[in-house]
Amino acid sequence: VHVRILGSAAGGGLPQWNCACENCALVRAGSDRIERRTQDSVAVSSDGMNWFLLNASPDVGRQIESFPELWPTSGRGSNIRGVILTNGDLDHCLGLLVLREWTPIVVYSTERVRRGLLEQNAMFRTLQRFAGQLVWRRLPPFEPVVLEDAFCEISGLSVVARPLAGKLPVHLEGLVDAGAEDNVGLWLEDQLGKRLVYAPGVAHVGGLGNDLSGSDCVLLDGTFWSDDELLRVGLPGRRARDLAHCPIGGEDGTLAKLGTIDVRHALFTHINNTNPILRHDSPERLTVERRGWVVASDGMELSL
Ligand SMILES: [Zn+2]
Ligand SMILES: [Zn+2]
Repeated sequence: VHVRILGSAAGGGLPQWNCACENCALVRAGSDRIERRTQDSVAVSSDGMNWFLLNASPDVGRQIESFPELWPTSGRGSNIRGVILTNGDLDHCLGLLVLREWTPIVVYSTERVRRGLLEQNAMFRTLQRFAGQLVWRRLPPFEPVVLEDAFCEISGLSVVARPLAGKLPVHLEGLVDAGAEDNVGLWLEDQLGKRLVYAPGVAHVGGLGNDLSGSDCVLLDGTFWSDDELLRVGLPGRRARDLAHCPIGGEDGTLAKLGTIDVRHALFTHINNTNPILRHDSPERLTVERRGWVVASDGMELSL
């Protein structure tokens, strides 16, 4: 499996347009202690020619231009065969509207995520301007699904969606009740059995260690270092756990809860702009790296 990290920041990116936290300020000042980041998305391929995006971020246009393998080769078209959504958060879905220029596209998601987007948000009808423009396929929890493009060409990849503790996207709060299929992690596998796990949103990591063990690569929720990270920069009332992200540090954090896991490449991604692991020289970054974890960055590639 070819894996390219297109973006590694949580919603808002780094820097975020309305944020003056230490990290955002360092990036704007051109510091070499930190890199600018686009919003979380990953491109995967089993043959290096046909690609699937894991989530479609609002930055998808720039992300495609940053990676020549995703460029069209002649006329109109794309090497992007489809998109797999982990949930209905806008930072994971808005990119679909960027991909609306008349090239057929297939989207995989749970039924709940599909309904939340298409039935509640009329503007998504722009993806259905002609028959076959948008093919939406269901990811039934725990069932392996062979990935195919809009014309049913198989890609050499299969995926299992596992419901993970999460939350409704903010725009659906008060409209529908929360459900198990609101948020999933993706367990992707190629025909050689190489396995990539992509889970950018996890509220509770307890018990996850077993499901991750034996994977060739894990891209895990690295949104926040501490539960009160946003409070510290003056955003009242929103704790990491209220936002359905288990913090990395602390006694109940991801590092402590997971312990040692048997994974070839373990990476944190979907990193919020307030997270101290973004600074190369922070003690939190050192802790993460000492435990064998890598902080994902935009443009990073892995071959599994
Ligand atoms: Zn997100
Ligand atoms: Zn910031």
